[in-house]
Amino acid sequence: MTDDKEQQEGTGEAGMAPDVAGEGQTDKGPSPTALPEGPVLVVAAHPDDPDFGCGGAMARLVQEGRQVAVVVVTDGTEGGEDPDIPDEELRDRREGEQRAALQELGVHEVAFLRFPDGRLQPALDVRHALTRLIRYYRPATVFAHDPTAHLFDGYINHPDHRAAGLVTLDAVFPSAGNPRAFRDLLAEGLPAHKVKAVYLFYTAHANAWIDIAGAPLERKLAGLSRHQSQLNPEWDYTVWIREEAARTGKEPGLEAAEGFRRITLGD
Ligand SMILES: [Zn+2]
Repeated sequence: MTDDKEQQEGTGEAGMAPDVAGEGQTDKGPSPTALPEGPVLVVAAHPDDPDFGCGGAMARLVQEGRQVAVVVVTDGTEGGEDPDIPDEELRDRREGEQRAALQELGVHEVAFLRFPDGRLQPALDVRHALTRLIRYYRPATVFAHDPTAHLFDGYINHPDHRAAGLVTLDAVFPSAGNPRAFRDLLAEGLPAHKVKAVYLFYTAHANAWIDIAGAPLERKLAGLSRHQSQLNPEWDYTVWIREEAARTGKEPGLEAAEGFRRITLGD
């Protein structure tokens, strides 16, 4: 994809009204977002990515009464500097940390696909596994990595993040919604399901924001504190997260926000 093409795609959503706090409605009252009504599924590459990417949004959506489930695609076994820790030990520790983090957000549904960390490809077996889960949870909205995000000022986006984003979008369209795709899933009682919207995190093209001021931001910080194996004691992540939330909130005029690249899918 050329830069020009990416630019065109990035501006293709420009005509859409920004998704800012209070725009949507649910049967429980004003929604913090204009997400379509219905369940939410978050797909992330590693344990801790759901929380960094959209922890505040998850807390806010749970608070609103939404059903939220999380899928972690890899086993997280490259998340460390000590080559002597057995993979299974680190995997189990990180999965435990992820479960504890999600408890802080009020999310009780999580699936671990355990594809090898650091080697994720947007391959058919991963797409099949994600298609199965999308058909099982039947989300209206899927949150995922922005697969087009590669180079940021000061860091390179992890290849697993890009692969996870790409394969999640491939599962959303066409696989989950096409009854002729992965027909073995029909035999499992998992008919086709069309997702209505995708919200991409870790993006440079945010066009939708979710207000996370107050309790959702505090819950996000509490969730992140559970990822002890990933936290550098020398680094106060809480300062960074608060600053990032304030910086992201500037464009939509919110005190604290998470920003997403929203794609609304047709019927
Ligand atoms: Zn990650």
